Amino acid sequence: MSVPTLLIRNARRIETFDDAGTAYEDASIFVRGNAIEAIGRADTLPARADSVIEAREMIVLPGLVNTHHHFYQTLTRNVPGTQDSPVFEWLVRLYPVWARMTPEAIRAATAVALAELLKSGCTTAFDHTYIWPNGARLDDEIEVAREIGVRFHAARGSMSLGESKGGLPPDSLVEDEDAILRDCERVIDAYHDPGRFAMTRIVLGPCSPFSVSLDLMRATIELARDRGVSAHTHLAESLDEERFCLDKFGRRPVELAEDLGWFGDDVWHAHMVHASAAECERLGKSRTGIAHCPSSNMRLGSGIAPLGALQRAGARVGLGVDGSASSDSSHLLGEARQAMLLQRVNGDPAALTARQTLRLATRGGAAVLGRDDIGSLAPGMAADIIGFRLDTLDLSGGAIHDPLAALIFCRPPDVAFAIVNGRVRIENGAFVDLDVARLIERQNRAARNLFNGA
Ligand SMILES: [Zn+2]
Repeated sequence: MSVPTLLIRNARRIETFDDAGTAYEDASIFVRGNAIEAIGRADTLPARADSVIEAREMIVLPGLVNTHHHFYQTLTRNVPGTQDSPVFEWLVRLYPVWARMTPEAIRAATAVALAELLKSGCTTAFDHTYIWPNGARLDDEIEVAREIGVRFHAARGSMSLGESKGGLPPDSLVEDEDAILRDCERVIDAYHDPGRFAMTRIVLGPCSPFSVSLDLMRATIELARDRGVSAHTHLAESLDEERFCLDKFGRRPVELAEDLGWFGDDVWHAHMVHASAAECERLGKSRTGIAHCPSSNMRLGSGIAPLGALQRAGARVGLGVDGSASSDSSHLLGEARQAMLLQRVNGDPAALTARQTLRLATRGGAAVLGRDDIGSLAPGMAADIIGFRLDTLDLSGGAIHDPLAALIFCRPPDVAFAIVNGRVRIENGAFVDLDVARLIERQNRAARNLFNGA
């Protein structure tokens, strides 16, 4: 049987996000199997393929890459009593709710988060789940991601430092450290694919300096390096965390991470709001990655991450929608708009341009996840491709000038089509094979169950 071909035909504009920032007008992309074979002006490409997507009046981009999320939190969006809390208080109120999650709840939440992400243009998603109550396992998420067909980097997250040992989470939600490390090994053996175009990769993700021991931080990074997988945690998110680290360890969060070996091109940290100029320099020099999560940082009043300093120093920077209990949405293009606007509030309207922001959402995210096969459109790259209609009410009068910038200066749209690894997942604005109504019903049932008897 021959490998199927797919043609995305006559796009008004294709933005490749290659090194030179190449864009084409009236252009097409020819895909064979899971890879791009040719891209360029429509009249230079084959006119036929096994399947064809008409992209007239569309802008076509590489699929976006999300670098930080907690899928399970889609079950606890907008919870009264946590809407206006800072991060420590917000966590303490939500831990007992999360403790009631079942494997079925995690599966429903994973499907919801992935569907939302895909609808907003995200074709590669990362998840950081660090709570595994009632028999839930990482396998639950991986199986759902494979069904939905999104490229997935899954963290085996963990918490081991309960209240009785000076940590923030209740003792009932933390795990034994040997058991955590054994399960990390198990999921790497079972699922991690280091190869090009991998659909599943494993990441090791202790939650934060206030919920795991320093021993577990050290053991985890050693294991990650031994097995050749990336490592991820939350760092320098809030001033509460900074005080906690100074009181308990006599070091600032970034200094602590550096001491523990949590610097380098195989590590990325979520947030990095409170990094000093010197810390940004050291993070950049070591090529450490950062997941910038502007909505969550604004919602929790955490602050504004120093993106300019981090990027100038050489840090790898991508965008993350963060968990849906602190940003309440998994719209990655919407998150790009938030990132662009937040960098400007201190007085510089040119602090982050639309193009720079969308580069963070594509190439930036790919670099953070350690991938060179996604994030741009070129022959030989993975066929992760998205398209947005430009002839809509929201973009009218705007997309005539600069269709790329219109995507985040105007109301961020949902995709018209999304292709992951050569498979069409959304076409004509609708999921090809996902029953969304059933998904919503299932999610609302699981979410209600968390609050029954609370
Ligand atoms: Zn987070």
